[in-house]
Amino acid sequence: MTRERLYLFDTTLRDGQQTPGVDFSVADKVAVAAMLDELGVDYVEGGYPGANPTDDEFFSRKRTGRAKFTGFGMTRRAGVSASNDPGLASLLRAATDATCLVAKSWDYHVRVALGCSNEENLAAIADSVRASVASGRETLLDCEHFFDGYKANAAYALACVRTALDAGARWVVLCDTNGGAQPSEVAEIVSAVIASGVPGDRLGIHAHDDTGQAVANSLAAVEAGARQIQGTLNGIGERCGNANLTAVIPTLLLKPRLAARFVTGVTREALRGLTRLSRRFDELVNRAPDPQLPYVGASAFATKAGIHASAILKDPKTYEHVEPESVGNRRRVMVSDQGGKSNFLAELERRGIAVNRDDSRLESLIAIVKERESQGWAYEAADASFELLARRTLGTIPEFFRVESYHTTVERRFNARGDLITVSEAVVKVEIDGERLMSVAEGNGPVNALDRALRKDLGKYQDAIADLELTDFKVRILNGGTEAVTRVLIESGDSTGQRWTTVGVSPNIIDASFQALMDSIRFKLMKAGA
Ligand SMILES: [Zn+2]
Repeated sequence: MTRERLYLFDTTLRDGQQTPGVDFSVADKVAVAAMLDELGVDYVEGGYPGANPTDDEFFSRKRTGRAKFTGFGMTRRAGVSASNDPGLASLLRAATDATCLVAKSWDYHVRVALGCSNEENLAAIADSVRASVASGRETLLDCEHFFDGYKANAAYALACVRTALDAGARWVVLCDTNGGAQPSEVAEIVSAVIASGVPGDRLGIHAHDDTGQAVANSLAAVEAGARQIQGTLNGIGERCGNANLTAVIPTLLLKPRLAARFVTGVTREALRGLTRLSRRFDELVNRAPDPQLPYVGASAFATKAGIHASAILKDPKTYEHVEPESVGNRRRVMVSDQGGKSNFLAELERRGIAVNRDDSRLESLIAIVKERESQGWAYEAADASFELLARRTLGTIPEFFRVESYHTTVERRFNARGDLITVSEAVVKVEIDGERLMSVAEGNGPVNALDRALRKDLGKYQDAIADLELTDFKVRILNGGTEAVTRVLIESGDSTGQRWTTVGVSPNIIDASFQALMDSIRFKLMKAGA
């Protein structure tokens, strides 16, 4: 039996941006788009072209390779022609492959929120879809509040769908905007829409998680015939979030009933990077990963000592619904971590580090990583620090330089003009091949001053770090209270376009930052073959 293609549409960069505390910079958006592209989603929707400087810059060029780069916006306003609508104009100027337009499909909302007639709303849908299609873009129409709209006035909700398809839309996406629909209702309504003559392979589902059923609603829509699923990474989004793609995707690929019928753009191999992607995303938005997330959570395959654990050790299938490795997660049995070694070997192999299974240095690497992770080092997010630690423990790279000591000050004072300023100064003493170097630098803060001092004179390595650039800096306080430790993640890049993340952990924020800085420089030196 040939399997049917299901399409995945990610809206992390728009719906996800509605999450309290989440605010993407252009660099964040570029990074997330690349992660999604690598994973194999079909559409990466990036926000509203024309709405703000961040989105303008993000949409100034195409940010995906494989995935269709998609802009989001509203259908033209009532009473304005498509060509005179500024919102639509920005959408059609963006460097996108596809446009996702949103329209009201609930007559009550048309009347109350838009204040126009049902016919005017249909005309706005038709004109806007035509304008997008005419610009050469694949066009999708999101029908806001579709399920509530259908319950209130099925004929009108269907008219919105038909109008969009007749105007040339590739997809009409049925949205459960307030997240209150139940899986059985979703199945029933999607079936009714298809029965009315709309092909299922033109229908998508956009579900919110207000009753904890966004994933279930998405799958119910697929079972009923819809062929596109919209969702976000780790299920972030307004209120209770959106359908969680990090749960939807493994379910589609690993559950035999679904896997036998459907195929997506995500390969089994890409799926093995899902846990890492989920953690990297959390670090990027500076959120603590939820250990209980399905499939990718740190506890998703954890079993405490007791009868479950001893059964798991006899045969993991006794308590696991899928293999943790299939999503790149790992089994954790608190009494004896048998899965540890092979996971580690796989992780090292992924980075091109060859090591013999019986090499005793492997045991010490595992012990160091476990110990450090328990203290707050986040190696899943800090790939460069992990690689450095592994290579140094396995003896394949040198230390490059040794910092003998550093010193930094913070001074807050009034300058000659009477303005209150804060200045920092740092002194770093480094030893390279027995030679001692000392540098002094000023900065706008202690970490900035230390960074400048450290990179001012690295002797024979100076040329190799010339194009090193720090691109992001994130601080998280772990386990609160007076015992709190600080974790600093630093993202760096260079002129080759490569980016890497390093980590430092310490009760002292300056020291945590300094460790991450040193790792960043060492990684760059390792990369340069210095
Ligand atoms: Zn939404």
